[in-house]
Amino acid sequence: MTAFLMKTDQLTFEKAYENLQTIQPEARMNEGFEWQLKLYQLMGCEVDTCSAIYKQYRLQKVTEKYPELQSLPQELFAVDPTVVSQGSKEEVLYKCRKCRRSLFRSSSILDHNEGSGSIAFAHKRRAPSLVPVMGSRAQCTSYFIEPVQWMEPALLGVMDGQLLCPKCNAKLGSFNWYGDQCSCGRWITPAFQIHKNRVDETKALLVLGSQTRKM
Ligand SMILES: [Zn+2]
Ligand SMILES: [Zn+2]
Repeated sequence: MTAFLMKTDQLTFEKAYENLQTIQPEARMNEGFEWQLKLYQLMGCEVDTCSAIYKQYRLQKVTEKYPELQSLPQELFAVDPTVVSQGSKEEVLYKCRKCRRSLFRSSSILDHNEGSGSIAFAHKRRAPSLVPVMGSRAQCTSYFIEPVQWMEPALLGVMDGQLLCPKCNAKLGSFNWYGDQCSCGRWITPAFQIHKNRVDETKALLVLGSQTRKM
């Protein structure tokens, strides 16, 4: 009912829940569902499975569900950019600085606000820890991304470890299913981070342009 009010009357979660409780004072919502509705609000009352909010939520649910991490649903992983060359033209491709292997696309980056005060430590209260909104990310020295297919062997059966380039083994970053703190102070759970100084950005358009010139 709260979700319905949010969507049809374009209300915030708080307002919709308040309205519901005015009519039905005994109405109670569990914390998990309250969290889902707040994410729903952040996504503009649409369930967008491509949004960073949705991806981060799905990762958090998997972390709760698979404490042993013996197997991971395949849909959790972004397709390895070396396998499929699809992707929109505006997308930026990130490559290993050392060997140039393609590692991930800009659509895999899970944005977050720079951490501050209580929000930065929200994970300790097991509260929603992400509010990806556009803003300055100058303080962040890492990209926090969704897992990509080439990471799978490293992620299974362990809670944390290093992320190495699948081609040259250069250290790219680290992962932690319990979460990790970005250099800006923000906690991300779970965390798959790639240090910005280990990868280079490549615009898909530039790659196409250089190929055209050779012909
Ligand atoms: Zn950050
Ligand atoms: Zn490499």
